[in-house]
Amino acid sequence: TYVVTDACIRCKYTDCVEVCPVDCFYEGENMLVINPSECIDCGVCEPECPAEAILPDTEPDLEKWLEVNTKYSAEW
Ligand code: SF4
Repeated sequence: TYVVTDACIRCKYTDCVEVCPVDCFYEGENMLVINPSECIDCGVCEPECPAEAILPDTEPDLEKWLEVNTKYSAEW
């Protein structure tokens, strides 16, 4: 899955939302999040993010952000 990280906080560009083929972006408290069980790992959103906030979960130290993405996307 891909993960939205802190660079998205209070940014909320929605370029990523527009390109995601499975609509797995959701509104978090102050940032957008990706639902990890819906993301198909296509990678299309990563280069579209103007804040470079989206990373694949294969990058190190993303556990906290993966939790945030999971939590806020589950409330919908
Ligand atoms: Fe959507 Fe693809 Fe980004 Fe996953 S990697 S959030 S499926 S655009």
